[in-house]
Amino acid sequence: MKLDSRGIIREGSVVCENDVIIRKTIRRDGKNSERVDSSVVHKLEETGFVDKVYITKNAEGNTLVKVRVGFIRLPIMGDKFASRHAQKGTCGIVLPEADMPFTSQGIRPDIIINPHAIPSRMTIAHLIECVTSKKAALTGKFEDATPFQDSEGQMVRHIEQVGTALHSHGFQSRGEEAMYSGMTGEMLTGTVFIGPTYYQRLKHMVMDKRSARDRGPMQNFTRQPANDGRKNGTRYSSIKVGTMENDVAASQGAQAFLRDRLLYSSDYYQTEVCDTCGMFCAGSTCKCNTTTSTITMPYAFKLVHNNITAMQIKASLRTHSRRCEEEEE
Ligand SMILES: [Zn+2]
Repeated sequence: MKLDSRGIIREGSVVCENDVIIRKTIRRDGKNSERVDSSVVHKLEETGFVDKVYITKNAEGNTLVKVRVGFIRLPIMGDKFASRHAQKGTCGIVLPEADMPFTSQGIRPDIIINPHAIPSRMTIAHLIECVTSKKAALTGKFEDATPFQDSEGQMVRHIEQVGTALHSHGFQSRGEEAMYSGMTGEMLTGTVFIGPTYYQRLKHMVMDKRSARDRGPMQNFTRQPANDGRKNGTRYSSIKVGTMENDVAASQGAQAFLRDRLLYSSDYYQTEVCDTCGMFCAGSTCKCNTTTSTITMPYAFKLVHNNITAMQIKASLRTHSRRCEEEEE
C-alpha cells in the first residue's frame, strides 16, 4: 500500500499514471447524501516519486494536504538550456561521449555551441566567464569574471592577466585549443575556444510539449477535437488545420485529404433534412408529411444554420430528391 492510514501517500513512494495520491470522499448534495469518491489522482503518464507531503489546516479548520511529486529527467534532444548571458538554445543532438571531440589532455566538452550566437548578441561576458573560469580551474582560486569594471583599461588588464596565467600553465593565452575528432581521431584543422561555463537547464522540456492524438476528447460546443490536452495533464491534444493549411491542401488538389481532416476526423455529423421545406427535421417537426434525406455535414455547419434560424432567417437545404422533383417539373 502506497497510502498511509489517513489515505495520504507516503513520502518516497513511486507514483504511476492513475495512482491515488490523496484518498477522499465528498457529499455531492447536502449533508445527508451518499459519499462519492473524489480522490486526487496522478494524471501524468510519466512515473514520478513523492518528494514531500505537507499536512496543515486551512482557515476553516479543515485538513489541507499538499503533495509534491518529482521526476528524474536526463537531458534529451529538444530540451532548453542557457548560460547566464541571455544565450539560450535547445539541444540539437545527444552524442555518445566517444564521438565528442577531445583536447590533447583528453577533455571532452559537455556541450558545443555555434559561435554565430556570439557576434550579433555581443555577449562578451560569456567569453570572459569562459576564459576566466579556465584560469580558475587551473589555479584552484576564486576569480571575478564580471564585465562591469571601473574602466576599459581594467577589463583589458584582467584579460591579459588571464592570458598570461593560461600561458604559464601551458595553454594558448586566448583560450583556444587544438582538438581531435572523436569519430576519426584526426586533429581538427582549426583551433577551438573551450573552457568551463555555467549552464542552466530551463523548464521548457520536450517531454512536456510533445503530444499525439488519434481519437480523444471533443469540445462540447462545436464537437471538434479539443486542443488543450496538454494543459490538463493528458497527452491528447491536436494541431489545428486552419484557413492557411486549408489553402495549401486546396492548392495541391488534395480534396480527399481535406475532406478527411475537416469532416471525418473532425466534427462529422449526420441529420435528416425535409425534402419539401429543406429544414432540419427529426421525424415530423416541420409537419410537411413528406420524405426526408440523410445529410452528412460538419457539425459546425449545423451550428451556423441553427444560429441563422434563431435570427429569424430561413436557410433551407435543397436535398437531392427535392432537386430531382424540381427538374422534372
Ligand atoms: Zn418540411
